Amino acid sequence: MRWDNLRLADTGQAAVAAPLFARGAVARTFDTPEFRGMTFYEIHARSVINRVPAGSHVPFQWTINPYRGCSHSCTYCFARKTHEYLDLDSGHDFDSKVVVKVNAPELVRKELAAPRWGGHPIAMGTNVDCYQRAEGRYRLMRGILTALRDARNPFSILTKGSLILRDLDLLTQAAEVTEVGTALSIGFVDDEVWRAVEPGTPRPGKRLEVCAALTSHGLPCGVLMAPILPYLTDSPQALARTVAAIAEAGATHIVPIVLHLRPGAREWFLGWLSREHPRLVPRYLEMYGRGAYAPKAYQARVQQQVADLARRHGVGRSSAAAARRVRPPALPATPTSAAGPEQLTLL
Ligand code: SF4
Repeated sequence: MRWDNLRLADTGQAAVAAPLFARGAVARTFDTPEFRGMTFYEIHARSVINRVPAGSHVPFQWTINPYRGCSHSCTYCFARKTHEYLDLDSGHDFDSKVVVKVNAPELVRKELAAPRWGGHPIAMGTNVDCYQRAEGRYRLMRGILTALRDARNPFSILTKGSLILRDLDLLTQAAEVTEVGTALSIGFVDDEVWRAVEPGTPRPGKRLEVCAALTSHGLPCGVLMAPILPYLTDSPQALARTVAAIAEAGATHIVPIVLHLRPGAREWFLGWLSREHPRLVPRYLEMYGRGAYAPKAYQARVQQQVADLARRHGVGRSSAAAARRVRPPALPATPTSAAGPEQLTLL
C-alpha cells in the first residue's frame, strides 16, 4: 500500500477490509442507480497540490487530483495502473472503487496560502476525471475552485464530464482574476464506439455541447482528441467527422493523441478488443507488440491529417481573440511517461 501523501482519518465509522482500511479509510455505498455497484473510500489526504515528478514531459509542474479511480470506465484509460499503488486492481476496481480525498478543498486553501507556495499554474484532470460522477455528490471541485479563485491562482481543467457546467459561476469568476484554461477530451464522435469503450462518460455530442457552452460563457475551450483508436476511429471519414464536430462546437484548438497502451490499460483494453473485435487483435499486436506506443510514422500521419482538417475547418479562428486572453489548458502534445503513485496521465 502506498499512501505516502495520505493520512487516513480514523472516523470511527464502518472500517472495511484490509489493507486500505486498516488505516482508517471509510467506505461508503449509495443506493441510487448512478452509484450502484460502486464503493467510495473517503480518506483525509496530507497534501493535495502535488508536484509533477522530475522527468515528466508535461507543460505543467503542479496538479490537484481529488479522486483516484474513475467511474467513467474507459477501457483504454491510461490511469488504470495507478490503482495498483493502492492494492486495488487496474480493471473493474478502477471503475468501481473510487478514493475520495474529502478534505481536498480545505487543503488546497491552506496550501495556496502557505508562504512557500509560488502561485504556479495548477493542472486538474491530469490523472483521473475531476468531474466524474462522484463529484456530483462530493462537490469537492466547488471548494477547490473557490480557493483557487480567492488566491487568484492560475489553473486548467481537462475533463469528459458535463458536470463542469455546474461550476460555470466559479470558473467565470476565477477567469476575471486569473488565467483559466479548459479542455474537453473527445477522441471521436461515433456513438457506437463511445458506448463500447467509454461506457460511463457523457456521450461525445454532450461533451461537444459542454465545449460550446464554456466558450459561449467566455471560457475558451480546447479539445484533446484522444485517444484516436487505430482501425476503429482513425479512418479519413471518422477523423473528418470528428474534427468537423469539434470545429462546430467552437473549440479553440485540437490536440490529437493516438492510443497508447501502457501496462494496466494494455491488459484491460486488449481483453476488451479480443472480445469485441477479435479480428483486430493481430493488427494491434503488430502496432503495439514492441511497446506502449503506435509506430511514430502512424502517429505523425494521423496528427498531420487532424492538423489539415482543423485548418480546413477553421478551428480556433472564431475564438482566437478570446483565447489570447485566457491561458490554454496545459496539455502535453505527447503522452507522459510513468511517474509513480500520482502518475500523470491523460483523460
Ligand atoms: S480516461 Fe479519463 S474519463 Fe476515462 S476512465 Fe480514465 S480518467 Fe476517467
